[in-house]
Amino acid sequence: MIIQVKNLKKEYGKVKAVRGINFSVEEGEVFGILGPNGAGKTTTLEMMEGLREVTSGSIKIDGIDVRQNPDDVKEIIGVQLQSSAFFEHLSLTELLKVFRDLYSTRRDPRDLLKEVGLSKKAKAQVKELSGGQKQRFSIAAALVNDPTVLFLDEPTTGLDPQARRNLWELVQQIKAKGKTIILTTHYMDEAELLCDRIAIMDNGKIIALDTPQNLIDELLKRGFKKKMPTNKANLEDVFIDLTGKAIRD
Ligand code: ATP
Repeated sequence: MIIQVKNLKKEYGKVKAVRGINFSVEEGEVFGILGPNGAGKTTTLEMMEGLREVTSGSIKIDGIDVRQNPDDVKEIIGVQLQSSAFFEHLSLTELLKVFRDLYSTRRDPRDLLKEVGLSKKAKAQVKELSGGQKQRFSIAAALVNDPTVLFLDEPTTGLDPQARRNLWELVQQIKAKGKTIILTTHYMDEAELLCDRIAIMDNGKIIALDTPQNLIDELLKRGFKKKMPTNKANLEDVFIDLTGKAIRD
């Protein structure tokens, strides 16, 4: 197990945001954290990243205790930042150099831009990128230190269907290189497609944890029946059929 979270809690004053959660993540797994707004997903992710103080409990990543050695953990993890966090007047290549210099393991900006399909934008600034390109660039920035574990917080929010599919492929490519990925999302189709296992959080607790298929099978075993017979295609299929799979940016 590359990640072990034990009895993790976070209180903001009287607000109990995370109420003692336990889970482990295997190396090479895509692990999804789902849950309604305010469930505690971002708080959990940020505690794992060493960016938010833990109230109690323990987190180990690749044998390193995040609370005791946050700096050591930062060397082996990649965290996707919002594109608003990037300096405005630098090109993509310059930004990747700035981030890379924070680490002892450093990847070549050219390789990173190629990996995320942005080679042609090497000299562009972030403000010149489309939404999908910004998301891909923020993933490139999270990979500068060749991390063992990559954290993605709602990586496809706000993207069009083509750009979402493109980002799913990128996540699958990164997984194929053996990286462990922890992601949050509000899109169930995305979680079902990308995640090996899913933890569903509500009110600061994990209320279910399993593979997507097992979670679905469990629901069916409890006698669940869909209210409406499902169509053989949905509106997203119509949209993709009419506008094509090619990305527009
Ligand atoms: P979303 O899906 O909306 O991103 P989330 O599952 O990521 O939600 P969190 O952002 O972790 O949820 O918030 C969990 C709870 O902690 C919420 O009740 C929220 O209001 C509270 N909270 C989060 N950050 C803070 C903070 N800095 N100070 C006080 N309360 C906070």
